[in-house]
This record gives sequence, C-alpha cells and structure tokens, in this order.
Amino acid sequence: MKQLFVAGEWREPIAGGHREIRCPADGSLVDTVAEATREDTLAAIGAARVAFDEGPWPTTPARQRGALLYRVAELIERDKNELARAESLDTGKRLMESEYDIDDVAACFRYYAGIAGTDSGRVIDTGRDDAISRVVHEPIGVCGLITPWNYPLLQTSWKVAPALAAGDTFVLKPSELTPSTAILLMRLLDEAGLPAGVANLVLGAGAEVGAPLAEHRDVDLVSFTGGLATGRGVMAAAAGTVKRVALELGGKNPNIVFADADFDTAVDFALTAVFLHSGQVCSAGARLVVEASIHDAFVDALVARAGRIRLGGPFDPRAETGPLISAAHRAKIETYVAAGIAEGAELRCGGRRPDDPHLADGFFYLPTVLDGCHRDMTVVREESFGPVLTVETFTGEDDAVRIANDTDYGLAGAVWTRDAGKAQRVAQRLRHGTVWINDYHPYVPQAEWGGFKQSGIGRELGPSGLDEYRETKHIWQNIDPRPQHWFHD
Ligand code: NAD
Repeated sequence: MKQLFVAGEWREPIAGGHREIRCPADGSLVDTVAEATREDTLAAIGAARVAFDEGPWPTTPARQRGALLYRVAELIERDKNELARAESLDTGKRLMESEYDIDDVAACFRYYAGIAGTDSGRVIDTGRDDAISRVVHEPIGVCGLITPWNYPLLQTSWKVAPALAAGDTFVLKPSELTPSTAILLMRLLDEAGLPAGVANLVLGAGAEVGAPLAEHRDVDLVSFTGGLATGRGVMAAAAGTVKRVALELGGKNPNIVFADADFDTAVDFALTAVFLHSGQVCSAGARLVVEASIHDAFVDALVARAGRIRLGGPFDPRAETGPLISAAHRAKIETYVAAGIAEGAELRCGGRRPDDPHLADGFFYLPTVLDGCHRDMTVVREESFGPVLTVETFTGEDDAVRIANDTDYGLAGAVWTRDAGKAQRVAQRLRHGTVWINDYHPYVPQAEWGGFKQSGIGRELGPSGLDEYRETKHIWQNIDPRPQHWFHD
C-alpha cells in the first residue's frame, strides 16, 4: 500500500500498518489504506524541511506558482467525477453535494492562482533621502495541515492552495475516516509538476500522526480544522515551539428569524441551514432563534417539512440527506438529544434512528427538532454536529442579539427580516465571523472565513487566507552609510 507521499515518492508506512475505510451509508468496504505512525510523519516533516530550505519552490516567482495552481484546478475539473465519487464513498454524502464540493475545490485553487504575486509588499516613506524601506512577504516555511472528515477535500484546498501560492512546503494529514481524496490530490499535484518534497501526505490517527505536526520544531505553522477539544490540544502542543497556529473550530450558529421575514422562505432555509449534510457542517444553523409572535406557526411548518426529509445513501437519487460519519458520532448525537429532553426540551420530530430496513447498516439519524430550549441546556451550548435543531424564542432586536451572542462559539449566523435597517444593525452586532442576511450557507473563496471567540484563530479564504501562510519582513537599507557618533570616539 504505497499511499504515503513523502519527498516526491509513494511509500509504504514504515511499520506496515493499514486501516479499512467503510462507507457510512451501508458499512461496505471502500478501501484498505496505509496507516502511518509517528516515524512516517517525522520523515515527511524532514522532506518538507529540505524542500523548503534547499528546494526551488519558495524562491519560484509567485506568478509561476500561480500558473501551477491553475494547472491543478484544471486537473481537478478533469477528474471531477472520480473525486466526487471518492468523497461520497468516504463521507456518505450525496454525490450531487460532492460534485458541488469539487467545483468549489477547483474555484479555491483558481482564486489563489489568481492572487499569487499580486501583492509585492509596500515601500515606506522613511522621511530620509538616504534610506530605503520595504515591507515584503515571504513564505512561512513548513506547514502542518490537519483536516476533518465533513468536507475532506474542500477543507484541504483552503489550506493547500494558499500554502502553495505563498511558497511554503507542507505535510498534510487528512481525517483518518476520509483519506481518499487527499491521496488523489497528491497525484494531481505531482502530475501538475510540483517539485518533490513540497507536498507530503501522511495517513493515520490524530494522536499518532497529527500530533507531531503540532509539536515538531521543524514545522513553522500548524493549520488545523476540526473540533474544539482537539484544537485546544493542537494549540497547547504548538506552544512548545511557539509556532504559528491557525484554527478553524466548531460553531453553535444562531439562525435569527424576525416576524416580518418572508415566512415560507425562512422556513425553507431554516431546514437547509441545519439539516444539510445531516448537520455535519461547522456553520450549520443549529440554533433557531425565532420571534415569539410567530414561534408556533413557524415551528409547526418546519416540523412538518423536517419529518418528510428523505434519508439515503450517496447514490440514491431520491435521497435528500445522508448518514452520519460513524457509529461513535451517532452515539454522541443520541446523548445530546437525550440530555436536551432530560433538561426540559420538547421533542417535536426525529430523536431516533429511521425504521427503514434499507438504512439499517448505515449510521442514519432522523432530522430532529427540540422546542422550548434555553441557553443553559447542553444541547444548546455544545456543538452536536448532527441533524439536531434547537428552538429558542426572543422578543425584540436586543433580545435576539443577546441570545445569538450568548455562546462560546462565533463562527456564523443569519438574520431573516424584510427590514433592511434592522438586518444591518443586527448583522453588525453579531459576534460571529460570517453573517448571512436572508440567506444561509453561501460562501465565496474571495471572502474570509473563520471564527470569533472559541470558533478559531485566523482566517481562511480571501487575502487573509494567504496571509496565514506568509511571514512579513521589513527590509531597511541605508544607501549612504556614515558614522553616527552616538557614542564619543
Ligand atoms: P476532530 O477534531 O476529531 O479531528 C480533526 C482532525 O484532527 C483529524 O484529522 C484528526 O485525525 C486530527 N487529530 C485528532 N487528534 C489530534 C491530535 N491530538 N493532534 C493533531 N491532530 C489530531 O474533528 P472532526 O470530527 O474530524 O471534524 C468535526 C469538527 O470539525 C467539528 O467540530 C466541526 O465544527 C469542525 N469543522 C470546522 C470547520 C471550520 O471551518 N470552522 C470546518 C469543518 C469542520
């Protein structure tokens, strides 16, 4: 199983391990892949270090790096069907959704291809005619890139594309549950002509294979997307070498609906906000915060439609959403729902596995609505990362903002109203990194993505997403140096 990519070569893991990848929709075997150990990660870090310190990539003109990224985007489009199929088998998500994801992956590579080399720094007015001062950007070095299972290749592209545009080298560690598209991406980077050692891939468990990326002194930046608890551990591990840390963590995202919103549209979007990909979306609108005067009608309409959502596997054309990623993840969601009910929430729909015998081998869970929730409940405070909507009510603008901001997270949120002034006022007061007005979920690679508070550190996408992968240097030149005589001769 030569599936680790180190120093431009496909290698077997040093200890010879392997792991079975199974489709969460039916438990079928997708592949048996290499399982690395710490030694493999150390070898990959060494290769990335050599490629950075000695290789041509960091000093390749940025426009040339951009040209390579354009080639990668074309190869991704060429192989879209294969990539989308692999993503669906690993994650269980509908093929159509994976196809959208792959389009977005190509768009991300194109965006960073386009801005590579467009920012050559600043020339500073020193106020002196004998000195030149410039502020320049340089690649940061070796990057450790750790990614999750919910949008495997998409989250990877948000890191790999800017890292390459900046001139860095990297070691990528995808989620051990969804490694397939990372393997395919490495092949495409190689085919596009990336020099050996710039891109390295290790596969395996987080504590074994991911942890060295956070700890090692030869890694200059660790960029992590995943859960809050793991992110805290990555940050603590990175402290030993004071490396740059970028964290994209979870969310507990409020979807605020005012009484004057377009009712049917707001109901429709409230469903996609939370139940898309069975809620396994960091920005999922898992907290419905609805104005008290429309609460009953709104929740009735929402529950009626939630109860009709069709579950199914990735290639079932009638399916509207898929399974959860694993048995362990479903068990976690069941615990959250049970806790919500025990703490006083009213179960309005779902709250159990589906009866359909065709779904019995997958990790399916019905779309669930818990009404009568409040902010002290565990299911409201913590991210379940599943198809679970909690409903809270508010009266007035201040109350809506207070409830929406009363969370340790701050990734995303939405506000629904026909009043443009109110929409802007609320959007400005929300302590969340993305705010949608009369919409939910859209994003573009040109605009920054990231979290306030415990949803993370730094930003992906947009120009800031490139800055994460660059150092800033001030170069001062005295063009007419003479003794200063600060101290007497
Ligand atoms: P996770 O934290 O369990 O794992 C994420 C990655 O970290 C995996 O590759 C895993 O192997 C690795 N890992 C685990 N232990 C590690 C360790 N000790 N050191 C280094 N790496 C380690 O998260 P997950 O379950 O894969 O993904 C779901 C989480 O990701 C959710 O909380 C979700 O909100 C978050 N997420 C956030 C965003 C965002 O943009 N903010 C996007 C997608 C997912």
